[in-house]
Amino acid sequence: MATKAEISKFVKSQKSIWLYRKVQKAFEDVLSSMSDEDYREATEGLYLMVLHESALGQLMHFPRSKGKFKILQLSIATKAPDYILRYVIAHELGHGMQKRNWKKSDKGRLEASADAWAKKWGFPRDEKVEKWMNAVTKPL
Ligand SMILES: [Zn+2]
Repeated sequence: MATKAEISKFVKSQKSIWLYRKVQKAFEDVLSSMSDEDYREATEGLYLMVLHESALGQLMHFPRSKGKFKILQLSIATKAPDYILRYVIAHELGHGMQKRNWKKSDKGRLEASADAWAKKWGFPRDEKVEKWMNAVTKPL
């Protein structure tokens, strides 16, 4: 398991969450639930792009990265409870473990896999999560 200091250093290095203490805490909670191996994989070359709901856009500069990097975009829904933030962060980091983007032939497999990672780290898509998401998200 990664140390608290390592996790704190990673979270502090992410400039898009400087103003969002609640999100920093949720990331710390999720990352500290991972095995050392999962933590390394999940955070390697990872940049966060995080915005609260009423912000319309954001542009950030990142240092050049050798090889592959990944960006996790997170929109903070107004009034999103901590358990939702933690689930969404764990689910998105689960996508990071897949090491590639979705393609049509994957159908729902990568979503199920991201949920399996989230569950492994202790953040399952349970009834409470489903209920909240169904109440606030509308299909486009
Ligand atoms: Zn997903």
